[in-house]
Amino acid sequence: MTSLTDNFASVRRRITQAALRSGRDPESVHLVAVSKTVPVERIREAKEAGAEVFGENKVQEAVPKIEVIGSEGCRWHFIGHLQKNKVKYVVGRFDLVHSVDSLELAEKLSAESEKRGVVTPVLIQVNVSGEASKFGIDPQHLEGLLRRSGALSGIAVKGLMTIPPYTPDEEEARKHFANLRALRDRMRKQNIPGVSLDELSMGMSHDFEIAIEEGATWVRVGTAIFGERTG
Ligand SMILES: *Cc1c(COP(=O)(O)O)cnc(C)c1O
Repeated sequence: MTSLTDNFASVRRRITQAALRSGRDPESVHLVAVSKTVPVERIREAKEAGAEVFGENKVQEAVPKIEVIGSEGCRWHFIGHLQKNKVKYVVGRFDLVHSVDSLELAEKLSAESEKRGVVTPVLIQVNVSGEASKFGIDPQHLEGLLRRSGALSGIAVKGLMTIPPYTPDEEEARKHFANLRALRDRMRKQNIPGVSLDELSMGMSHDFEIAIEEGATWVRVGTAIFGERTG
């Protein structure tokens, strides 16, 4: 049985190797330790092991955990589908929202942030695979959403995120990651006011090395650090 400390070190090592293999600076790839369903004692262990950013996907689960663990020496990212009525719990607690996929949500986040005098950094979640069941905006509507989000003063658009459908086929996964990067490169050429597209959040436990080879700046890794989720 491997310990959380070993798991964490191994993920870090694999991130570094994947970056070097693809001619990238390992410092340009950041790790979100996905702590959804993980109890606070285990999150503290991960923090001891060196984890600095934790990813949560449910507001009602995350808020009490953040309350207990705090934000000293670590940061919290929101990575799940965000309902508009939960926005008030997210602003001020999370340093990055990876999953903005509609103008309505962008507007809500912006309004709530303005109310509190903060700017909330966000990523736009894109559905690059065209799979009907997944969240994320259709690539053909991305530019419109970027333009309108860029005009909102309570949020700062930093990049794009995607969750491709699960596939054991590495080359299939690579295609989706390469598509997101290509889309980002195309959008970046538009120089959309208020939008910077430096960040690409893509890659999970089973495919984060491929995502890094294709340009990920944030990988979101749960199982490979904390073990299989039971809940
Ligand atoms: C759960 C989750 C992850 C992590 O998945 P693992 O396979 O456990 O690494 C990453 N991103 C999102 C959005 C998730 O919900």
